[in-house]
Amino acid sequence: MTGPGGDGSDALADFVVAGAGHNSLITAAYLARAGYSSIIVEARPIPGGGASTEDWLVPGLGIDACSTGHTLIRLNPLIRDDELGLVARYGLAYVDPDPVAHVAFPDGEHLTMSLDAEKTIAEFGRFSSADAAAYRRLLEEWADVAAVFGSDRFRPVGYGPSIDEMLEGHPRASTWRRRQAMSAYDLIMATFEDRHCQAFLLWMTFQTIVAIDRPGTGLLAYSLIAGRQRNSWSIPLGGSGTLIDALVGFLADHDVAIICDKRVTNLVVEDGRCVGIETADGSTYRGRRGVISTVHIKHLVDMAPAECWGEDFLYGVETYEVGLSGFTVYLVATQPPVFATPQGGRTAVSAGIVDWPDRFLAMLRRLNDNLAFEPDLESGIEHGTGRVPFLLVATPTLVDTSRTVDGLHTVKLLSAVASDPGPGRTWTEHKATLADWYLGAVRRFCPDFTDEVIVANDVRSPEDLERYNPHMIRGAYHGGDRTPANSGVNRPVPGWAQHRMPIPGLYQTGGTTHPGGSITGAPGRNAAHIILEDLGHDPSRFVPLP
Ligand SMILES: Cc1cc2nc3c(=O)[nH]c(=O)nc-3n(C[C@H](O)[C@H](O)[C@H](O)COP(=O)(O)OP(=O)(O)OC[C@H]3O[C@@H](n4cnc5c(N)ncnc54)[C@H](O)[C@@H]3O)c2cc1C
Repeated sequence: MTGPGGDGSDALADFVVAGAGHNSLITAAYLARAGYSSIIVEARPIPGGGASTEDWLVPGLGIDACSTGHTLIRLNPLIRDDELGLVARYGLAYVDPDPVAHVAFPDGEHLTMSLDAEKTIAEFGRFSSADAAAYRRLLEEWADVAAVFGSDRFRPVGYGPSIDEMLEGHPRASTWRRRQAMSAYDLIMATFEDRHCQAFLLWMTFQTIVAIDRPGTGLLAYSLIAGRQRNSWSIPLGGSGTLIDALVGFLADHDVAIICDKRVTNLVVEDGRCVGIETADGSTYRGRRGVISTVHIKHLVDMAPAECWGEDFLYGVETYEVGLSGFTVYLVATQPPVFATPQGGRTAVSAGIVDWPDRFLAMLRRLNDNLAFEPDLESGIEHGTGRVPFLLVATPTLVDTSRTVDGLHTVKLLSAVASDPGPGRTWTEHKATLADWYLGAVRRFCPDFTDEVIVANDVRSPEDLERYNPHMIRGAYHGGDRTPANSGVNRPVPGWAQHRMPIPGLYQTGGTTHPGGSITGAPGRNAAHIILEDLGHDPSRFVPLP
């Protein structure tokens, strides 16, 4: 890198990267492996985006501000084959919690998912022997096609056979095409008969906050459930941020600069080519070979004149759906939430509460219409009853003491909400009401999780989440909706799914590109493959396709 930038001179590297989420760090890391330098410019005070662990409530106590579970990235060759040595040399380590999950139902019943599939099947059997058999079948049937449906995640769109081609000749191709086209909600309701089993599976399938009542979400009911059954809700020891620490360590060893606290505001376009970025403080950073963005696609198009993008592309961005909004309560407590069950107290890193399927569906319908959860008989969703349609209760300190201080626990309550708090309300006042509602529901099942054990707390509404990370528009966790209109060849815009943007020299990675958000590292690694190809390399030398 030459020139400091910010003082009138331009900083220069092979690539300039806008945003330092885990995906763009991964892209820069693979490029560094191939000998290319980058300057990475990040709006927040620290790199990592949704994979950050911070200690804003109790000094030294690492709280995952966003992601906690890293199940999918474990399948990425980056981690599976430790391609960059993040595990061997940079201290990254994972643990697979067992039990995988524990969920409470409105009638006081519970279901525990264990890493031993036979134990989970036996749990289903407590409610219905037919559902126990259906769960076993679900795992077996998915094992037969997991390689087909999982294969395209770690390849850029259009590289390798399509899923349709891979299904050709499969004896159950027709069944899988039907399941793919259905909604996960319909599929679960058609496959399982007992409402506890149905509600548990809906809870699990909704973990990525996708509207699972929409057609085209069917496979989530298989991939998410079978994935968790196999790999649990895998978490990095020390917190999500240890993935970032490992990447930052790798990048530092390869002389890649990361500059924080600078918001990218404009793209520099010269002679029709993207050659750099400008930040809010007037600094310019130039990339000899190109610019890589993980800025949300809806913000990116405002960073260069409309004629640079073309009408068609702009239409695609305008109609790109940002996804459902999330709501998060952070708690620091002297003890974890312990679910009281007839079999004794139960804890799980990934625990939760769910309502019966009809109320769950009512929640999805309101979310699809972006309607707040007001007390409303029609929706059946009520305040003050200790019932919530969906709540994830994440307590990573149950298995990871390396992030604790004085034995304290970090507990995160996550739910989906409308992006607006409802008529006449503001998030500033309403978020406390909502947080109390969720905490009340937890206490119904975890009676010892009282005010006395909670030593610190914070609440982030959709508005707060967007302020924290501009990539999470309206507090949507995953960079965009993942129904078919916004997935695969359509992500972010039909015809532009291979990371190359309409402005030559500009590449897009991160959650707004295939295969979408979550901690997968897939958009980051896939983008590196494309960029290295454009640089004239055989990209498989550095980023082999699975
Ligand atoms: C509360 C919460 C819980 C979650 N839990 C999980 C979980 O358990 N498991 C899971 O897999 N996923 C989870 N997610 C989702 C996950 O965090 C995201 O999908 C993931 O972080 C996306 O990664 P990314 O690299 O694409 O982008 P991000 O992590 O969003 O990073 C983008 C980066 O770009 C920066 N940026 C954006 N615009 C600009 C700009 N103009 N200038 C400079 N910098 C900019 C941002 O500040 C950010 O650092 C959760 C999200 C939230 C909010």
